[in-house]
Amino acid sequence: MADRPMIAVWFSCGAASAVAAKLTIERYSATHDIRVVNNPIANEDPDNLRFARDVAAWLGVEVEQAINPKWPTCDCVDVWEKERYMVGVAGAPCTRALKKRARQAWELLHKPDFHVLGFTVEEQRRHDRFVQTERENVLPVLIDAGLTKPDCAARLMADGIALPAIYLRGYPNANCIGWVKSQSPTYWNHVRKHDPSVFAQRAEQSRRIGVRLVKVKGERIFLDELKTSDKGGSLKSMKFDCGIFCEEPING
Ligand code: SF4
Repeated sequence: MADRPMIAVWFSCGAASAVAAKLTIERYSATHDIRVVNNPIANEDPDNLRFARDVAAWLGVEVEQAINPKWPTCDCVDVWEKERYMVGVAGAPCTRALKKRARQAWELLHKPDFHVLGFTVEEQRRHDRFVQTERENVLPVLIDAGLTKPDCAARLMADGIALPAIYLRGYPNANCIGWVKSQSPTYWNHVRKHDPSVFAQRAEQSRRIGVRLVKVKGERIFLDELKTSDKGGSLKSMKFDCGIFCEEPING
């Protein structure tokens, strides 16, 4: 219904943005056109696709896809290979190519009036920063409802939706496995333990391209130099999340 204001809900295959979509539909569907949009990334856990299907059925809407036409494979490995760059002071080229540009292409075509993201009540600062630097027209539905990340997970489970399998393997978010913005030895040893083939692929590619992805005791090293005994902060303390709007990490 084109005559009603449009809300784009950016669903990242995480628990919080799924619940944000649910609340948006409950609160605004009588007055607004609501579009739920996902940004597919080939390097995410395959179970994210099952989760997206379950969430679409739960919401009773189609989950649309935003894809950068220049990168139809949606594969970070392809972006790193072609750009000969994985991460650095300018951020990660995969977020720009596969997320930011994909989202901008979708926005240009559909011109949403408002955005909803999965910022929870403990992420008020992240929301504020986002409103200041990216988009003013954000509806903070989870913050208004006072919901935390665990609240969102509990809501999904109460409604019979199994969380993305990547959470069950102890990862702090449902982003790509082998997330290149993390410099944490704890994170990378977690990848090595739970997804050894991804670890091997990142180690090989980053050595070849010349990127030291991990930092141990203040020094950047190659992944293939990381010892299994190297440790950083706990995974739970890492508030990183590669959102669809390509924000930089808070830490990690
Ligand atoms: S999660 Fe990491 S690897 Fe995936 S697109 Fe974002 S920065 Fe790139």
